[in-house]
Amino acid sequence: MQVRITVSFPYEAPVSQSLFDRASVVTPGGVNSPVRAFRAVGGTPRFMVSGTGPYLTDADGREYVDLVCSWGPMILGHAHPEVIAAVQETVARGTSFGTPGAGEVELAEEIVARIEPVEQVRLVSSGTEATMSAIRLARGFTGRAKVIKFAGCYHGHVDALLAAAGSGVATFGLPDTPGVTGAQAGDTIVLPYNDLAAVRAAFAAHEGEIACVITEASPGNMGVVPPLPGFNQGLADLCSANGALYISDEVMTGFRVSKAGWYGIDGVRPDLMTFGKVMGGGFPAAAFGGRADVMAHLAPAGPVYQAGTLSGNPIATAAGVAQLRLLDDAAYAKVDAVSAEVRGLVTGALAKEGVAHRLQVAGNMFSVFFTDADVTDYETAKAQESFRFTAFFHSMLAQGVYLPPSAFESWFVSTMHDDAAIERIAAALPAAARAAAEATA
Ligand code: PLP
Repeated sequence: MQVRITVSFPYEAPVSQSLFDRASVVTPGGVNSPVRAFRAVGGTPRFMVSGTGPYLTDADGREYVDLVCSWGPMILGHAHPEVIAAVQETVARGTSFGTPGAGEVELAEEIVARIEPVEQVRLVSSGTEATMSAIRLARGFTGRAKVIKFAGCYHGHVDALLAAAGSGVATFGLPDTPGVTGAQAGDTIVLPYNDLAAVRAAFAAHEGEIACVITEASPGNMGVVPPLPGFNQGLADLCSANGALYISDEVMTGFRVSKAGWYGIDGVRPDLMTFGKVMGGGFPAAAFGGRADVMAHLAPAGPVYQAGTLSGNPIATAAGVAQLRLLDDAAYAKVDAVSAEVRGLVTGALAKEGVAHRLQVAGNMFSVFFTDADVTDYETAKAQESFRFTAFFHSMLAQGVYLPPSAFESWFVSTMHDDAAIERIAAALPAAARAAAEATA
């Protein structure tokens, strides 16, 4: 007999709710990153207290199969023993020295060894810092001001890059954000994703003015919307023909979709790349890197200034090195297999209930769009029936499966999602698919 799940938020998580009430007094919106607040789906954000393998446990003592994986980093699951051991061994020797350290060299060498176009790399503490610094470097290197970005691509909360961004900005439907001045955004040209003709036209209209094109290597911040065949190569070719730099933002895809990230899948050679998430093993570590002649413009080797008190932090780099060293071919094969299995279950359950949907995939990243139309850019992504996601999300949550609390985010799995975790997902899906089918706007 199928059990009908009735969701009665926000009262189903009393400890989380009371923490959220306290947080809302001292923190704007009660959270330190907007999408965590559940505003797109309603209800009580779950305050997590621990994670093990594929599971999270919240402050009310409920366990969830985690399909967010900290928005990507936890590709080896939570509290992986070897990553934890590396952290414990390092932290016992001190937490930050403000000097160079061996861990930074090891992490940089790991990155350079994996990703052939990256000849040199600079470590920073967040993906936002990585893209902000890469743009500054591109401007400093070319002596040009303008930047092309694509609607629906999120590159962190960099002022110049928040125009038509995805992620939390997509979730809240904000066209832009107050606090970014016309001057800060004035050199940003926003174009529709997957539209090479628009890029060609922009280069023609702004000859000699465009410093760089920045794109998510394969976007995951408007939901998963992979590049159409030839799109990334077309960007690289247009950049090189016009004296601009091609920046591939691999903060999400880097070290997640393959050993060499999306570059390992499509082989298109960028001038600069940005990384974060997986490379920090759950700690704040990120990076940008690429052509040595471009990186040579960075201080102290060159004139473009960039710095950070906690850049290359010993604990973050120890966690990152430990995680990357565990990510061999077998680990990626496992994550890919888990992803394929979960995708099959999701699409099967939705199809069974007659719910129109598109399951879009980029390596082992994927997301569901509640639509039967092609999703190739931000406009088509936004055209989905996201109210169906809300119903689907809450049914899964009530049954102990933690999805991203937004229809415009990628889902993430790990090497630790074993048969037991997948069975729990499978058991939750029929009711969630029914909830999606019955949902009304
Ligand atoms: N670039 C991409 C593609 C991202 O997905 C993100 C974050 O989700 C960022 C940049 C910003 O990274 P962070 O949140 O570490 O600042």
